[in-house]
Amino acid sequence: MIRKIIFCLLLVISLSACATLSGKKEISDADINAQAAKSYAEVKSKSKISTNPVWTAMVQRVAARIARASGENFQWEWVLIESPEVNAWCMPGGKIAVYTGIMPVLKNEAALAAVLGHEVAHAVRRHGKQRYARAMTENEIGLLVGGAAVIGGQLFCKTTACKLLAAGGGVAAGFAITFFDRKFSRGDESEADQFGQEYMARAGYEPSEAVRLWERMSIAMQGKAPPEWLSTHPSDEHRRQKLTEWLPEAESIYQAAPQHYGLGTNIPNS
Ligand SMILES: [Zn+2]
Repeated sequence: MIRKIIFCLLLVISLSACATLSGKKEISDADINAQAAKSYAEVKSKSKISTNPVWTAMVQRVAARIARASGENFQWEWVLIESPEVNAWCMPGGKIAVYTGIMPVLKNEAALAAVLGHEVAHAVRRHGKQRYARAMTENEIGLLVGGAAVIGGQLFCKTTACKLLAAGGGVAAGFAITFFDRKFSRGDESEADQFGQEYMARAGYEPSEAVRLWERMSIAMQGKAPPEWLSTHPSDEHRRQKLTEWLPEAESIYQAAPQHYGLGTNIPNS
C-alpha cells in the first residue's frame, strides 16, 4: 500500500514536470537504438544463455535470414535465453531474443521465422516509437522518474526481463517498462503480421505456416499470460483470416525468393 502511494506521488510529480518538457524535442532512431542496445546488453548479462547447440544454431540461421529479408540496415544481434517463458522479442534497432520455452511450441523453422518476422516487423516499422521517446524524455528530468520506474517496475512488470531492467532504475528502467509491458495497437499488430509473413516468405520459408503457427500458439497459451504477439491482437480467428487473405501475395514473394527451405528443419523437443 505504502509503495503504491509513493509510486503515485512520484508519478504525479513526474507528470507535472513532464508537461513542461513535452514537445521539447524529437528523439531520433539513433537515441532509441542506443538505449535499446544498452538494455539488451543488460538483459543478456543477467540472463542464462542457452547452451543447447541445435536450438542455438537454428535461432542463429533463421534470425539471420529474417534480418536480411527485412532489408533493414540494423546492428542485428540475436540470443537464445534459457527460460520457460513462451516468448520472443526484437528491440528497436534489431536486438532479438528468443526464449527456450517457445521452441517446442514452434515445431519447425518456418514457425520460428513467422514469430521472428512478426517481432522484427515491429522494430522495422518503428512501432511504439512515440512511447519509447516519451519514456526517454521523461527520464531527462532525472532520478525522480528513475525512482518511480524502479517501484513501478516491481509492481507492474510482468516479465522477468522487465523486472531485471527496472531494478537498475534510470533510463533503462523507463525503457524496459515501455518495451516489455508494451501493448501495440491492433493496427500495428496487424501490420506486423502482414510484414512478418512477407519477411518469412522472402527468407525462403513457406508462408502458409504462419496461419498454422498462430493456431498452435493459441492452443498452447490457453490459461497462460499472453506474450506480446497475443496480447492486443484481434481475435485468433480474425488473425488467421487476414493471414490467409495475404497468403497469395506472400506465396508469390516466396516463389521469387532466392532460396526455398519449405518448413525448414523440425525443432527437436529439447
Ligand atoms: Zn506484435
